[in-house]
Amino acid sequence: MLDIVQYLPAKRKTSSSGWISFNGPCCVHNGESADRRQRGGLKSSVEGWSYHCFNCGYTASFILGRNLSFKARKLLTWLNVPQEEIERVNLESLKHRSITGLLDDRQKTAAAIQGIQFEERDLGEVEFVTPAHTDIWNYLRSRHAPLDYPFMVSATAGSRPGVIIPFTYNNTLVGNTTRFLDERKPVWLNDFQPGYVFGTDLQHPNWQLVIVTEGIFDALSISGLALMHNEVSDAQARLIRSLGKEIVVVPDQDRPGMELVNRAIELGWSVSIPAWEGCKDVNDAVKKYGRLATLLTIMQVRETSRIKIEMRRKQIVKRL
Ligand SMILES: [Zn+2]
Repeated sequence: MLDIVQYLPAKRKTSSSGWISFNGPCCVHNGESADRRQRGGLKSSVEGWSYHCFNCGYTASFILGRNLSFKARKLLTWLNVPQEEIERVNLESLKHRSITGLLDDRQKTAAAIQGIQFEERDLGEVEFVTPAHTDIWNYLRSRHAPLDYPFMVSATAGSRPGVIIPFTYNNTLVGNTTRFLDERKPVWLNDFQPGYVFGTDLQHPNWQLVIVTEGIFDALSISGLALMHNEVSDAQARLIRSLGKEIVVVPDQDRPGMELVNRAIELGWSVSIPAWEGCKDVNDAVKKYGRLATLLTIMQVRETSRIKIEMRRKQIVKRL
């Protein structure tokens, strides 16, 4: 199989989270001046690779078992991969087409039929967060965020300190949220498209179940989804259903969270409200008990019966 890394410019650096930065070969083909600040980023694994340029905004990805997309072919061409090599990659890839790939395609088809789509967005002047961004790095660690997620930081001089969390859908950038780390308000700044749900790209095709949480760090700390508030819009419900998995809602254990429980009942989804001591949400539980124990308790106490869910909610409300 083609090792794309071999074709990257010799001048490059690899972050501890596995992102390789180099001068994007894309910009000059997209009406921008040539990248001289290594703003192209690529991450690769045995299952494929993902590319994003923060200079011209070009994105492309490849997943083993799928056809090479038009954008992936263009990127390989710009990296001077010979044409016959590109065709060979495509043929080899299709040999790995598995049941998983077919299921995944079916989900994509379902999403397309239901008209689920988001505009592609840009992040402006940004760079990848590395351990050298000490405050941000420590903050992400304290929130138990997966450090291989492509967290970004503004590269504009004088901008407020904070971490930019890109929102993706089918590995395309469709928005972001910034968590500022100074003492000023607002604490969060969102570029959020209606109907979007964070975390669909964190889901593994083999997982039977998808966990729906309220906040982005809840979702990041257990590879779940985040609604970004305590409501589920109809468009969000369609997107979550399009994943074709059992849906388990884990509300925050506060009053707004209990409203989310009502909506989950209405949608016919499972609800899980574990008895975590002194924890308001999933992220608190991960900090206290760890990721695995948190996931296990979510699974153990998930409830599908409307009556049992309502009983559990009453217990929580009494405690609040
Ligand atoms: Zn570019």
